[in-house]
Amino acid sequence: MVHTSEKTCPRCGSLKMRSWNELTPDEQFLAERLLMSAEYTPAERKKHRYCTRCWYEELEARSHQA
Ligand SMILES: [Zn+2]
Repeated sequence: MVHTSEKTCPRCGSLKMRSWNELTPDEQFLAERLLMSAEYTPAERKKHRYCTRCWYEELEARSHQA
């Protein structure tokens, strides 16, 4: 099984997927305004990854379903 820390964006193919803590304050400002912000708590969204090119928000792929 191959484990890659560099993930590509499923939407635009960019390698610039960033976790919340890797985003600059400006980027965090933008990320806070993404659509998903209505569905997830800020704490939850800090576990997501963001494409800084198209602002795709990737959920953490965990087996945690409501
Ligand atoms: Zn993207």
